[in-house]
Amino acid sequence: MARPETIVIVGGGIAGMTAAAALAGQGFQVTLLESAREFGEIGAGVTLSPNAMKGLDFIGVCEKAASAGVEPSRQRIQHWQDGRTLVAKDRSDQRDKYGAPYVTIHRADLHDVLVGAAHDAGVDLRTKSGVVSSEGSTVTLVDGSTVTGDLIVGADGVKSVIRERFETTPPHFTGHVAWRCLVPVTPEIQDLSDFPGLIIGPGAMITRYNIRDSQAMNFVFFARQDGWNEEGWTTPVDPDEVRSIYADWCDDAQKMVAAACEQPMYKWAINARTALPNWIIDNNVTLIGDAAHAMTPFLGHGAACGIEDGVVLARALGASKTIAEGLRRYQSARHERATFIQAESNANADRMQGQNTDFFGLEGMKDEESLGLFTYDCRTVPV
Ligand SMILES: Cc1cc2nc3c(=O)[nH]c(=O)nc-3n(C[C@H](O)[C@H](O)[C@H](O)COP(=O)(O)OP(=O)(O)OC[C@H]3O[C@@H](n4cnc5c(N)ncnc54)[C@H](O)[C@@H]3O)c2cc1C
Repeated sequence: MARPETIVIVGGGIAGMTAAAALAGQGFQVTLLESAREFGEIGAGVTLSPNAMKGLDFIGVCEKAASAGVEPSRQRIQHWQDGRTLVAKDRSDQRDKYGAPYVTIHRADLHDVLVGAAHDAGVDLRTKSGVVSSEGSTVTLVDGSTVTGDLIVGADGVKSVIRERFETTPPHFTGHVAWRCLVPVTPEIQDLSDFPGLIIGPGAMITRYNIRDSQAMNFVFFARQDGWNEEGWTTPVDPDEVRSIYADWCDDAQKMVAAACEQPMYKWAINARTALPNWIIDNNVTLIGDAAHAMTPFLGHGAACGIEDGVVLARALGASKTIAEGLRRYQSARHERATFIQAESNANADRMQGQNTDFFGLEGMKDEESLGLFTYDCRTVPV
């Protein structure tokens, strides 16, 4: 078969929208099908490391996203009991060091930038287009209509319908729970905004970073919990549950808990996927983002990986004569890295939520930067 003319992307999240813009930029006709009534993202923040920002540069929106977000000049990891700084990180040098900024941003602000890029690239963007099944290179929508392309790209997240063609096993609960909220930066928490980062302790941790001109912060409280029994994966929060988990944590943690409990907060079960050995079916179906490799968030790299997937898929297909060749090149460029990050994200939870956090800062510590993830460049990596 000749180079694909039409590509159908299922799912308009961070991965799907990036891929849509990148593929249209390579000259493909792209249709993106999103189940939601409107394009958007959840009310929470996301960290975009320099490797992710290089992907946004490929679709022409790196600086737009950087100015919609915040570039922190420093971050730290604090001890849960006394709040002392275990590790301090200078982030003021990220552009010079990696050729792209390190950005913290509201997800909706990032998503707006991505929708703009896909729109400008000429993508046929369709909402209210939930896919219920797919066969060959055709997908069937919830209203019974069908859409056919030369290539189907599953970008439909951790509960992916397209992934069901690869395996029937559902996502698994990882044992981690997150309580997420956004808080306004008030004088009481100005010092936490001035020095964002993590507080780590046995079996739990808390993260905070600035968004929206540092007028607001994203807080995420993580803890390990037994089996998730709720219907669905997100529920409103009982503030007493959060207060009791962190009751004996340091003053900064108490300030965060107090500020969070005044805001709407949601509890999330962290579900993930085990690594798939193969991301290609029949040479005309593939996966990107969480649909391919949903991971725990302990390296802050799920969205980054989805962005990288979208760019590398576009470059691989753009450089190939056939779909089969392009998909092979995409998979061989991406599979090893995504699987490595998936595994290291789990390992990082064990490192950062270990029983003896005294060792942090004293021993060689592994994180997303020291693992070398920031140096990756999806714009130039061989495909
Ligand atoms: C607490 C937490 C913190 C995180 N922090 C970070 C971070 O700081 N940095 C980072 O890089 N990553 C982070 N991640 C991971 C990141 O959020 C995800 O990896 C990323 O959002 C996945 O993007 P996606 O586009 O692959 O999937 P999704 O965001 O799930 O998007 C899938 C899209 O497909 C649509 N869809 C679903 N099913 C269908 C269907 N059948 N038909 C049509 N459309 C459909 C959905 O409506 C959605 O719009 C975090 C995750 C969590 C849980």
